Amino acid sequence: MELSQLDAWVREFARLIAENAQYLSDLDAAIGDADHGINMNRGMTAVIAALDADSPADGPALCKQVGMALVKSVGGASGPLYGTFFLRMGPALADGFPAALRAAVDGVVQRGRAEPADKTMFDALAPALAALESGADLAAAAAAAEKGRDSTESMIARKGRASYLGQRSVGHIDPGAASAAMLIAAAATAVTT
Ligand code: ADP
Ligand code: MG
Repeated sequence: MELSQLDAWVREFARLIAENAQYLSDLDAAIGDADHGINMNRGMTAVIAALDADSPADGPALCKQVGMALVKSVGGASGPLYGTFFLRMGPALADGFPAALRAAVDGVVQRGRAEPADKTMFDALAPALAALESGADLAAAAAAAEKGRDSTESMIARKGRASYLGQRSVGHIDPGAASAAMLIAAAATAVTT
């Protein structure tokens, strides 16, 4: 992905987060503390402010700016996880987008130790990555992420705040999986427009 596409991706993600902030917090209200939309919206607002104040020279610089803004501005668990996603993505961009997404998702896993079916953002990111690595385009990856998001509904949370609920976390979509599906949907939009 080129700088202009990365910029469009991040801005489209910010737009989706702002538009769906209430929905994301409502999902978090069911199995967490009702702040996921607030956290992500605060973070992405800071990201856009940083990009507007200081235009990055290239893709890696953009990713670094995005990651740093997220880590600095989001207090919840999702801030360092999404921050790590972008901080790891930057240096791998030269190897192509699937490799960059691999580095980003590996960073999320290293940071949060999520395993498949722990009911986290990883359950939306992993199918998207698998799709891209098998040669699918971003639209197909976005569809895979949405399927992954939906699959979290029947899972028992094993990471983060929702894990305190145990069995009672079943029957609700994970908020971080929902925002992660928006992240991949935004990438698909950015490369096709
Ligand atoms: P907090 O849980 O601190 O209130 P948020 O509500 O912003 O933070 O984010 C919650 C989301 O973070 C969860 O829905 C889940 O997807 C994700 N999450 C939490 N812990 C982990 C983890 N260890 N690994 C991956 N994702 C996680
Ligand atoms: Mg929360």
